[in-house]
Amino acid sequence: MATITLKYPEVTNFIAGKPEVNGQQKMDVHSPLDGTVISTVPLSSASDLDKAVKAAEAAFPAWSGTPIKERSQIFFRYRELLFKNRDELATLVHTENGKTMDESYAEVDKSMELCEFACSLPQLIQGEVLEVSKGVECRIERKPLGVVASIAPFNFPNMVPHWTIPNALMLGNTMILKPSEVVPISAIRIAELLKEAGLPDGVFNVVHGDRAIVEAICDHPGIKAVSFVGSTTVAKIVYIRATASLKRALCLGGAKNHLLVLPDAHLEMTASNVVASMSGCAGQRCMAAAQMVGIGAVEPIIQQMIVEAKKLIPGKNLGPVISKVAYERILGFIEEAEKAGAKVLLDGRNPKVEGRDPGSGPGGYYLGPTIIDHVTADMRISKEEVFGPVISIIRAKDLDAGIAIENANPYGNAAAVFTQSGGNARQVMERASAGMIGVNIGVPVPREPFSFGGWNDSKFGTCDITGKSSIEFWTQLKKTTTKWNPEGKVNWMS
Ligand code: NAD
Repeated sequence: MATITLKYPEVTNFIAGKPEVNGQQKMDVHSPLDGTVISTVPLSSASDLDKAVKAAEAAFPAWSGTPIKERSQIFFRYRELLFKNRDELATLVHTENGKTMDESYAEVDKSMELCEFACSLPQLIQGEVLEVSKGVECRIERKPLGVVASIAPFNFPNMVPHWTIPNALMLGNTMILKPSEVVPISAIRIAELLKEAGLPDGVFNVVHGDRAIVEAICDHPGIKAVSFVGSTTVAKIVYIRATASLKRALCLGGAKNHLLVLPDAHLEMTASNVVASMSGCAGQRCMAAAQMVGIGAVEPIIQQMIVEAKKLIPGKNLGPVISKVAYERILGFIEEAEKAGAKVLLDGRNPKVEGRDPGSGPGGYYLGPTIIDHVTADMRISKEEVFGPVISIIRAKDLDAGIAIENANPYGNAAAVFTQSGGNARQVMERASAGMIGVNIGVPVPREPFSFGGWNDSKFGTCDITGKSSIEFWTQLKKTTTKWNPEGKVNWMS
């Protein structure tokens, strides 16, 4: 039998500063660009996790005892290594996830920005001190939690791990990352570069696998906190299981972001922003525009959206979706909506992709941008996350009706309004039921130092995952009362 040379070496766990070959069951890793097998990933067991927890526990005392200003020096160096290796890291994201090279560069650049914020943490986490009675002082300091875990989804193999790694480690925790088994290769380069930057062994560990390893993370008594990013179904499972074993948990779920478009919106800007939001990363972003709420006479904007969307060429400036299963699930949504009476204005099914046979196994899982009008609230496409380059349009007679449609959806990651009226924008800012609001912005991701996080079924747990709010999640407060004057008066709190 001929030996197949894989594009990337077999992925291994990374424990205590070195690759750990576990001899367990393996799964193939496919590139969505052409469907080929590019590597394999181990499906680790609870005992592999236990090794990683022991390594992280062993590293914790020295790491948490290192002054934060020294820890930050490592992350300054690491940020430079991301920059130095930007081409390689972006190519890796492109190959394992399928997004375009431009999108992959943007992902790595965002990881750098996340490191820059982490390097500023010494300026943000000073404690408090006050003389509370004569000679008696109270002080408050932020202390790390211990060993923490971060579980990531497939859609941002480089950036989402950086939502948690720099902040959690800078704040003195040690970590186990469980990347998505679908895109596990970027995580290994992250581990190698952290080591090259000078991170002590055991502070950061990677354990690969699927559901079994996530369940083991939730149950392991040595892990103090779990962050999760992925679908709502799994976010709920992880939140319930991790908190049942008395861990701190922050679980970000799926989304169904509504964009309210009013007739007075700027024609070109609105059309190009809405299309960019629905199609960026092939619609596989938790901040993607999923449903447009057309309020009143918005025909010219919809026509301009079609013009904009036609500029997207699958295989050139529009990447494939992650897998054949995802491809078929998205087709199912479109077909069902069409049968239920919705009108497909722009049909991305079966696109011509140079040199590719879309959807049929090897060939890549490409879909063109798809715009579906006259969707109604009872259709499945209006209620569930599609996660592809597809936008449905639902019509509303006025702003109140539009806001009611947004409010009725169970998710709450993002919502946006496109209008030239400050009053209308203000109404949406006040009344939309989502954690991140855009005014004339299709992808309202708050940039550092602002925090990222949704509401409702898009997030379970308190705090946000990035920015200032994450400090609260990754630390606990130590309150110390001191007295150094034995001659002082004895009172009730002596
Ligand atoms: P997913 O929920 O299938 O997988 C996420 C992680 O959970 C992976 O590491 C996977 O191995 C693990 N997992 C899968 N099934 C599991 C189970 N039954 N029990 C325990 N663990 C399990 O999500 P995905 O398909 O990788 O990512 C896409 C989803 O992530 C979308 O819903 C998207 O909206 C969401 N997402 C949300 C945000 C956010 O900020 N809210 C950001 C990125 C992605």
